[in-house]
Amino acid sequence: MARVHNFAAGPAALPLGVLEEVAAELVEYGDTGMSVLEMSHRSANYQEIYDHAEQSLRELLDIPSDYRVMFLQGGATLQFAAIPLNLMRTGRADYLVTGSFAKKAWAEATKYGQARVAATSEDTAFDRICDSATYQVDKSADYLHICENNTIYGTMYHELPDTGDVPLVSDMSSCFLARPADVSRYGVIYAGAQKNAGPAGVTIVIAREDLIGDSPALDICPTYMSWATQAGAGSMYNTPNTFGIYLCGKVFDWVAAQGGVAAMEERNRAKSDMLYDIIDASDLYQGVAQPGSRSICNVTFRCPTPELDAQFVASASEHGLVGVKGHRAAGGIRASLYNAVEPASAEALASFMRDFESQMGGSSRS
Ligand SMILES: *Cc1c(COP(=O)(O)O)cnc(C)c1O
Repeated sequence: MARVHNFAAGPAALPLGVLEEVAAELVEYGDTGMSVLEMSHRSANYQEIYDHAEQSLRELLDIPSDYRVMFLQGGATLQFAAIPLNLMRTGRADYLVTGSFAKKAWAEATKYGQARVAATSEDTAFDRICDSATYQVDKSADYLHICENNTIYGTMYHELPDTGDVPLVSDMSSCFLARPADVSRYGVIYAGAQKNAGPAGVTIVIAREDLIGDSPALDICPTYMSWATQAGAGSMYNTPNTFGIYLCGKVFDWVAAQGGVAAMEERNRAKSDMLYDIIDASDLYQGVAQPGSRSICNVTFRCPTPELDAQFVASASEHGLVGVKGHRAAGGIRASLYNAVEPASAEALASFMRDFESQMGGSSRS
């Protein structure tokens, strides 16, 4: 077996122990005589798997009892529409546009109501989180939407905006379980699983009960996308991604066994600091994100020319370091350091970065 150091942005690395456990029980789960892949979502055996996944997640994030948890399909992208459809009761919402996904979420919401860009960092190519002193949240908005970790640009909120009574809705796709979150400060948290929590094809939605209500804000909301319907049906209004949810449950257990989300944050900080230290001391690498907005999940930087970036990516791959090509919207280099990326992988990348720079004849400033 030759596993590479996987820095992909998503789908991304999964814990090896989880993969091995899944492999061991793939053909027969417990003494059920069948694979989880073959199991009815209405069976008692599967319900147990589902309940375990939800319970394990509730413990990890200490989710208050008045929040409902859903495991849906369609990615974070489908939630870009589900959010206004479920929440736009007065028809107005605010968005902080700090990257491509934040902008897509806003653009989708404009189809259903008045979605206002309260602030954007597009003028500086999304290199930062918007300074809260530069905008005001509409006190009568149905919600304020943020993208908490901007996967493509490598920026992250280090302080949540103060929204008063306006519910905060957070796209946590790329920082879900990467650090602790005080769930009670949010109205809705949602995340595609494929970055940090499991395989592609599962989207986790955590929503406060009173915001879900008895029915979605807009009558045109497709039944599948109604949180009232899905929460009421325990995410089983229709067939859920049964295998994906099972795998998420395994990843949640793994995070708990590592010491929980606080331990994950410490680990992610140590990994990202390793790379940021090199960038800050380098004459070759230039960080993309402004230092105050740097992400602990996605580290972005570039060489002086796109040709050198390409050379870096190709050479890294030859050294077993894969998935470091920047997103096409941002270019450059991006190392995603999600929970399952081992510190040894970050060390291998750090050492490659140093070697690559000295080969280029660069001198470190440190
Ligand atoms: C990956 C990502 C998305 C898109 O997720 P899909 O599951 O492909 O819909 C949205 N937001 C953020 C922050 C992401 O990282």
